[in-house]
Amino acid sequence: MRVAAFLLVLFLAAPLPAADRQRIATINVAATSLFTYLGCVVQKKVRSGRDAAKCFGAGAIAGAGFYQAKRSAARGDITRGWLIANAAASLVENTTAGEHPLGRIGYTFGPFRFRVVTPLDRQRESFVDIDVSVAETGFLVRAIGDADDVDVRDGMVWYETNGPDIVDGIVFHGYTWGIYPGTWSGAREHTWNHEAVHAVQALQLDSVEPPLLTFPRSMRFFRLRHIRAGAVNVTDNVFHAQRPYPERWVEIEAYRLTQDREPPR
Ligand SMILES: [Zn+2]
Repeated sequence: MRVAAFLLVLFLAAPLPAADRQRIATINVAATSLFTYLGCVVQKKVRSGRDAAKCFGAGAIAGAGFYQAKRSAARGDITRGWLIANAAASLVENTTAGEHPLGRIGYTFGPFRFRVVTPLDRQRESFVDIDVSVAETGFLVRAIGDADDVDVRDGMVWYETNGPDIVDGIVFHGYTWGIYPGTWSGAREHTWNHEAVHAVQALQLDSVEPPLLTFPRSMRFFRLRHIRAGAVNVTDNVFHAQRPYPERWVEIEAYRLTQDREPPR
């Protein structure tokens, strides 16, 4: 628990709006490590100091991965960023489920997450486990509702609108619902990269949440394994929506990584 308290202090001590990239990297490592440990605790996988160290350690590596994923997306290398984010999410999911950290490698497409077995999986019951996310199903419906066009690009589902969204006189060039980034057709490249960073953030939030429902084990090539609520992701959205735009962590991070500046006031 001492490590958890230390990470929490580290996390809260950072004056957020002025966060530079180094600080963002530290926060990603610390927060993912902490939430992975908490995920292990909730799923009753911590029986010894060694288990705790494994959870903190795998979470820290995953946090570094999520940071790298966001950096790649922010630079415009979105496919690479999405792949790294999926690998990092796999580390968190496997570890918090008490499995080998690299036992399965997952890939999220739409509301589905396909988790393919590796030789390190001890049970090897199925080749592909499929998880379904309730929140990402809802976000997809919202994205399609807003969209003038839906597209598969960079290994993920994007939506496009014919014009920017104008709210209270402020022009929004893009908006991301969960893991579905959206821009308007005339948006500049940094807007695409910015929205892709938001999609990685959503995948990061989805990965730390324990599954809502786990189906019984079965020996099949494909099997439906988990239903995931995505409550952490939805709660985070609600929490952020109540804060002024420049103080939202997701915006502070996305602006700093894509354009190296603070969110506009
Ligand atoms: Zn944004």
